[in-house]
Amino acid sequence: MAKIVCVLYEDPVTGYPKSYARKGLPYLDRYPGGQTLPTPGAIDFAPGELLGSVSGALGLKKYLKRLGHKLVVTSDKDRPNSVFDKELLDAEIVISQPFWPAYLTATRIAKAPKLKLAITAGIGSDHVDLQAAIERRITVAEVTYCNSISVSEHVVMMILSLVRNYIPSWQWVVKGGWNIADCVARSYDVEGMHVGTVAAGRIGLAVLRRLKPFDVHLHYTDRHRLPESVEQELNLTFHPDAESLVRVCDVVTINCPLHPETENLFDARMISKMKRGAYLVNTARGKICDPKAVARALEKGQLAGYAGDVWFPQPAPRNHPWRSMPHHGMTPHISGSSLSAQARYAAGTREILECWFAGKPIRNEYLIVDGGKLAGAGAHSYSAGNTTGGSEEAARFKAAARGGSKGKRKKK
Ligand code: NDP
Repeated sequence: MAKIVCVLYEDPVTGYPKSYARKGLPYLDRYPGGQTLPTPGAIDFAPGELLGSVSGALGLKKYLKRLGHKLVVTSDKDRPNSVFDKELLDAEIVISQPFWPAYLTATRIAKAPKLKLAITAGIGSDHVDLQAAIERRITVAEVTYCNSISVSEHVVMMILSLVRNYIPSWQWVVKGGWNIADCVARSYDVEGMHVGTVAAGRIGLAVLRRLKPFDVHLHYTDRHRLPESVEQELNLTFHPDAESLVRVCDVVTINCPLHPETENLFDARMISKMKRGAYLVNTARGKICDPKAVARALEKGQLAGYAGDVWFPQPAPRNHPWRSMPHHGMTPHISGSSLSAQARYAAGTREILECWFAGKPIRNEYLIVDGGKLAGAGAHSYSAGNTTGGSEEAARFKAAARGGSKGKRKKK
């Protein structure tokens, strides 16, 4: 019998949904490029249900119970002696989502002698100290591609919202106004702008493809160059590094993983190299940008807007500068957790577990660390090291919440 600790975000404040806005989800069987969607032997959920919160339990409860395994599901992950900390001590498997990351630091790994597998139900395993996982020979796997398209849609939405000044205009309506001049004084067309992505992997390339019909000039930088045919099809300008890209772009979107090479890549120096009045959209990871440098650049007009859904740590402290800086379009970390994406990453998590319990290999494209080294997608897109430093700050969100909204959450 294995013990599995699954850390998920909290249920809605109104309670676990009893009905949904839409029935079911469109059917997809392949991602762009041909990779198949997850292929578990079976699933115990209806696609379109809320699976990423505690009561949804990624649809794993019945399956793990049938096999006689012990499943602990919690959202309590950051305070000292959290449920996560206590249950981790004798766990074999940890499952976590980047949206509500269970930071698997070296200290936590050292306290979990039985831990063998860390699954990211989503994409991006930077909440795991990969160096420590390599040294302890813990397998780290994620559900590659499960929400890449979801995020690319969100990026396009955020670029359009910032450039066209959507959120402040919506706010005027809600406030009862009809303030055209206030709304349009910061509103532009995207057409004709230079838009660049830092990384053209699954998300970055999907963003480029989606933006092509807007008649913009497209740019990218990446560690590996895209095939010439793709560069020609999308009329892409390749840049050898991020700095050369940001110098010429009106809009920059960040789509690389967080690893030691990309941590703090957008610091005050890099932002100062951007065109004055550029827009920056980051749905990759909060730690790729220096929070104070971003806020200062918005205040001074170096950036015209910043949007994204990723912060550090998560949940972000109540006084995080990105909550209150001007001209921002931030959301909590949601772009990769649409109900559509949840169905895919819940199925992918189940597929990984089925392989693990049957002693079969996990798909190579799902692997980040295996056999004491970076493997699969991890070997291609990450560099070894640790990016979890400072994650203990996430405890400050709950500490502040206990003073404010205590007792408001409705139990299922
Ligand atoms: P991919 O692995 O398909 O793409 C990542 C790309 O980043 C690869 O092309 C990789 O290059 C490139 N890259 C890595 N390091 C650098 C670097 N130093 N400079 C330039 N490019 C670099 O992953 P996805 O596109 O699916 O996801 C990307 C990231 O987006 C995830 O790692 C995650 O952090 C974030 N994400 C956010 C989500 C959200 O909900 N907000 C959901 C899903 C993902 P190469 O492989 O050529 O070396």
